[in-house]
Amino acid sequence: MSDPCPFDRRRFLQSASTLALATALPLSTSRGHAAAPFTLPPLPYTDSALDPVISATTLGFHYGKHHKAYVDNLNKLVPGTPFADLSLEEIVRATAGKPEQAAIFNNAAQTWNHTFYWRSMRAGGGGKPPAALAKAIDESFGSFDEFRKQFAQVTTSQFGSGWGWLVRDTGGKLKVVKTPAAETPLTQGATPLLTIDIWEHAYYLDYQNRRADYVNAVIDRLLNWEFAADNLAAG
Ligand code: MN
Repeated sequence: MSDPCPFDRRRFLQSASTLALATALPLSTSRGHAAAPFTLPPLPYTDSALDPVISATTLGFHYGKHHKAYVDNLNKLVPGTPFADLSLEEIVRATAGKPEQAAIFNNAAQTWNHTFYWRSMRAGGGGKPPAALAKAIDESFGSFDEFRKQFAQVTTSQFGSGWGWLVRDTGGKLKVVKTPAAETPLTQGATPLLTIDIWEHAYYLDYQNRRADYVNAVIDRLLNWEFAADNLAAG
């Protein structure tokens, strides 16, 4: 994984008064992102890179308005709370399942989920996974085709807004799961490998009510299997 926080680094380095510290302090700790304020990570491709599966218009609004709003909201909510010094992943885990922290959880988890979603796709993606991951998929699902069928079915069938995921569970088995709203398998002990956003803002401009068409197109034409393989190897 390359430096996950290049914008943090750039802004930090621009401050002359902190220049001396910049060489001494790691900005991205081994625990993940540095603490708040969080920045909107750059998209790993241009707005039009995923067209025609996902149009530049959808990508522009989704990233530039929706994802950005979660980051901005999080930065308004976190200062002054016990979560102010935690990394993004730590905030997601610390606030999960706590109704009194729902606003922070929702914005932190949506910030994390979207960054993971952008990286779960690439131009010219889809097709078959690298060998080690393909073997793990065969062992867990029986075949790639069976995995593909389950991933499409489970993701498409989420009632309302949410996410479809390929994860490795605590026992090492690969599974497809769906989560509602901002929920994420991060808080369930699983290692996320890939995700598909199935909030209507992810597909409605391009597919209207045809969620299954969007899900199938993402699976077959955009999934970033190298990213999934890296997550499997790292997790
Ligand atoms: Mn979204």
